[in-house]
Amino acid sequence: MSYQLLKQDVLFYQRFLKANGFYTARLDGSWGPKTDAADAAFVQQSESIKLRFGAVDARSESNIITLVPQAQIAARKFITILTDQGKDVRLLSGTRTYAEQDALYRQGRNGNTQPKVTNAKGGQSNHNFGIAWDIGLFENGKYILADSKYKQLPAMVLPELTELEWGGSWISFPDFPHYQLKAVSESVATVRGLFESGAAYV
Ligand SMILES: [Zn+2]
Repeated sequence: MSYQLLKQDVLFYQRFLKANGFYTARLDGSWGPKTDAADAAFVQQSESIKLRFGAVDARSESNIITLVPQAQIAARKFITILTDQGKDVRLLSGTRTYAEQDALYRQGRNGNTQPKVTNAKGGQSNHNFGIAWDIGLFENGKYILADSKYKQLPAMVLPELTELEWGGSWISFPDFPHYQLKAVSESVATVRGLFESGAAYV
């Protein structure tokens, strides 16, 4: 999802801004001066993070801007560490609104013939709270799909980035391209409750 789409779902974006300290007014789903000011503060902080930790490729940039500030920092460090070790890794996705997550959930269900891509509905994925991203690994510009290649990456980054969790270590649905910032709780339902009420969760 893009930053522009994030802004279009005003209630979702207000929750995102409030839980991360940019917005203190009511979660009313309407874009007024206070939401505008919070948005400007978020963009400004994102810019200063980019200056401090370095810009990356355009595709990754478009996804990093949808993450909460701590995740933006972690994602930039993540790419830098892997780039320094000769890996070409890009962020292919970042935050999804609940509506986008629901649309993804519908794939492969109820007569939809696309492949099933997720078991999470809106509010059930860490992608819905701005703390998760999925990567693509490239070799000579070609997108790599082999799990074995993705399994080599955690050992290169996780010792340095202890604030991260890797989706490949999940028992029930290992998700090798998935990384996320550890939240205050491992329970998605708990994080969801905090997010929706505009309380801190990272
Ligand atoms: Zn993911």
